[in-house]
Amino acid sequence: MFIFHRVADLQHWLRLRRKSGRTIGFAPTMGALHDGHLSLIREALIRNDVAVASIFVNPTQFNEASDLEKYPRTPEHDLQKLQGAGCAAVLMPSVEEIYPPEKDISVKLGFGSLAEVMEGQFRPGHFAGMATVVNRLLEIVQPDRLYMGQKDFQQLTVVRDMLRQFDSPVELVMVASKREPDGLAMSSRNTRLSEAMRTAAPVIFETLEWAKRSFLTTPVAVLQEEALKKLENASLRPEYFEIVDGHTLMPVNGVLKSDFVVACVAAWAGDVRLIDNIVIIP
Ligand code: AMP
Repeated sequence: MFIFHRVADLQHWLRLRRKSGRTIGFAPTMGALHDGHLSLIREALIRNDVAVASIFVNPTQFNEASDLEKYPRTPEHDLQKLQGAGCAAVLMPSVEEIYPPEKDISVKLGFGSLAEVMEGQFRPGHFAGMATVVNRLLEIVQPDRLYMGQKDFQQLTVVRDMLRQFDSPVELVMVASKREPDGLAMSSRNTRLSEAMRTAAPVIFETLEWAKRSFLTTPVAVLQEEALKKLENASLRPEYFEIVDGHTLMPVNGVLKSDFVVACVAAWAGDVRLIDNIVIIP
């Protein structure tokens, strides 16, 4: 596996691959890799000749300095995992490589309510920072396909909208969430859970599954209230539990019906903020 710290070096390597007709699947990450990340690489290798990953803890998408500081960093372990999954090249750039002081690379697009609801409400500026870094990475890598996890459903929806607005030729592929045996969605943040919170956290997925089972027989407002109660009873502190249209992320209720319904949740487990979702109607 090739490891690049400089954008120009990766671009040179990619040019050679593209010249010989290789297709490129790309998975951007923030490191502290787990099996969920690796499933993006495995998926990329099904339909592309080479898989490329990036590891960059993007400072502009953190709205709290302490969250950025506490974000786990495990570069050596990450490289081993990527190599094991068959990744061909990884970009591990410095902040200056991604945000060159002489260039304004910020994405000036508006995403409307897609970036304002749910995560947008609790993490102001998060999606603007995320879109900027994803766009910068796409400009660098110019992949045929971009692989992102369903776990960050709103992120993926915002990126899909960005690609649409830019008329981008890149195909976005959603990869199903990888879970621990007890249902907890794999996340780099899970390593920071206390023992008690790690025991409590599977209630998030249990609640999502319960909401999916109950959706057709229970009014949405009742579902939402009960779901929040279930999370609170397990000592989590939920920020939201929303049942939304998977395209617009607008709440589904008695009035707004949808053929693509997703339940999305964010909850604090001690001082760790966890998110998860389930597709109720695909
Ligand atoms: P992150 O490193 O958290 O920014 O995540 C990088 C990519 O991995 C994003 O596209 C995530 O949606 C995806 N990802 C994170 N956790 C999982 C998971 N448990 N299953 C599948 N994909 C995931």
